[in-house]
Amino acid sequence: MSGIIFDIKRFAIHDGPGIRTSIFFKGCPLSCWWCHNPESCALGIQHVDFDFKGSRIIGKKMSSKELLKEIEKDRDFFEESGGGVTFTGGEPLLQSDFLQEVAALLKGADYHLALDTTAYASPQVFSKSVELMDLVLFDIKHMNEAKHFEYTGVSNKPIFKNLEYLIENDKPIHIRFPMIPGFNDDVIHLKLMTDYLKSLKKIERIHLLPYHKIAAGKYEKLGIENKMNGIEEPSENMIQEVKNYFLSRGFDVRIG
Ligand code: SF4
Repeated sequence: MSGIIFDIKRFAIHDGPGIRTSIFFKGCPLSCWWCHNPESCALGIQHVDFDFKGSRIIGKKMSSKELLKEIEKDRDFFEESGGGVTFTGGEPLLQSDFLQEVAALLKGADYHLALDTTAYASPQVFSKSVELMDLVLFDIKHMNEAKHFEYTGVSNKPIFKNLEYLIENDKPIHIRFPMIPGFNDDVIHLKLMTDYLKSLKKIERIHLLPYHKIAAGKYEKLGIENKMNGIEEPSENMIQEVKNYFLSRGFDVRIG
């Protein structure tokens, strides 16, 4: 089976334990205002015109065996560092059959597997896709459904349902929280979110991902409206305040 990948990053150190190879799946059902990888959102292979620099092809069709071969090149680093493979995107669950096939091949060869996901998928797709994962990096963007819809284009209901499935099934989870000024960084929202996470009893770590403007140029090149225009990156102080709040609620916090 083949899937569409838009990047492979080696020596990643923020996507799970140890040194990892991160596989970026193309396509995402969300359309977050702050997306750092807007080139990943559409599912198919794209030819994008970059003015005088010529055009670039975004996305590559790869078979599961080709992907396995690429990943095998990094095996020594995984063994030395306790690392492995992280599926990210985009949203890997949008190509769930391909994801499941690749995960089964890798698990057969004893790789540590992590899935970085929005968890926006049906319970059937989600449960089957996380079966072979050793760790789920789970994004939480906003607790309020209407706000979530406004800024991402989808409801958060299936996302929380899938989070609760992971809890019931004792899957290791790290929460990823994109800190977006004016959207989800106010005290009321942080309290609501941490109350919810506490009620689940098994969440220990939150990765705080502060908004940055790094992707602004990509929006221009892709001809996509950048809804974050005029919104500033959070200051070091603001980031520390949110970090300290999470710490005060008893979570282990990592930035980035
Ligand atoms: S979920 Fe991630 S990849 Fe998808 S639109 Fe949002 S930020 Fe971009």
